Amino acid sequence: MELNPLEFGFGLAASFAAGACIGSFLNVCIYRWPLGMSTNDPKRSRCFNCKQEIPWYDNLPIISWFLLGGKCRQCGASFSIRYSMVELLNALLFLHIFWTFGLTAATAVYFLWAAMQVVGSFIDIDHTIIPDRITLTGTILFPLLVIVLNLSGHSESLVVSDWRDALFGAAFASGFIYLIRFLGTIAFGREAMGLGDVKLMAMNGALLGWWRSLFVIMGLGPALALLVVGVAWVISRKKMEKFAEIPFGPYLCLGSYVALFWANSILEWWLGLDPGSTAHLDSLWRRVLGW
Ligand SMILES: [Zn+2]
Repeated sequence: MELNPLEFGFGLAASFAAGACIGSFLNVCIYRWPLGMSTNDPKRSRCFNCKQEIPWYDNLPIISWFLLGGKCRQCGASFSIRYSMVELLNALLFLHIFWTFGLTAATAVYFLWAAMQVVGSFIDIDHTIIPDRITLTGTILFPLLVIVLNLSGHSESLVVSDWRDALFGAAFASGFIYLIRFLGTIAFGREAMGLGDVKLMAMNGALLGWWRSLFVIMGLGPALALLVVGVAWVISRKKMEKFAEIPFGPYLCLGSYVALFWANSILEWWLGLDPGSTAHLDSLWRRVLGW
């Protein structure tokens, strides 16, 4: 749907605001889900120190932390800036998705997907586990969404718009990372990667297609992990073993996001191809198999 500049500007502002508010809910999921707590009960957030309920005007997404100087109004206990940063991150992701896809089905699908990547990443950072309620839900939900949108003629805006390519992407991505995990476990004599990463790539593969998933698993994921670990090592000067236990999930999520938006441009730039010439790659496997 074509939007005039005013409508587009309103859409961007609404996406940012919605992203911030949903980010606030994501913080609740990140904190409560691994502890087996309900996101509904207690309804309002409480200060972890004085147990006072935090009133709505002190619980505004992104800005309240700054207004209160990062402290509880009642007892003065310090709150982590991470809550605000998660809200800001989700707001910026929503803004960027709307900027790219406008008022389309793709925007709705990628909003949902990005929010799930944020929750999965931060739970993985805190607990080195990505809950099944994210990955298994996504593995069922996203192929189903692509099938429904494709068969009803609304999937054109998606990066991978053909349901066969989505299903193949999910199967390929999870199969490939399972193989890497299997080989890594033999090579290192211990579990090289969690099964959570396998399920995560099944979910992401449905939206990325097969070759972007390959790009994430073999290229962007490890490259981002090395970059962050390298920078952290230079800054902290801690022993390298300290970083061996760092979860891979957040890098797969970040790599998947980069791949979804820029894999085609990166590949064309890298191989010096004409713009748009990588468009047929998603369905390449069908021609190889003669489907
Ligand atoms: Zn307090």
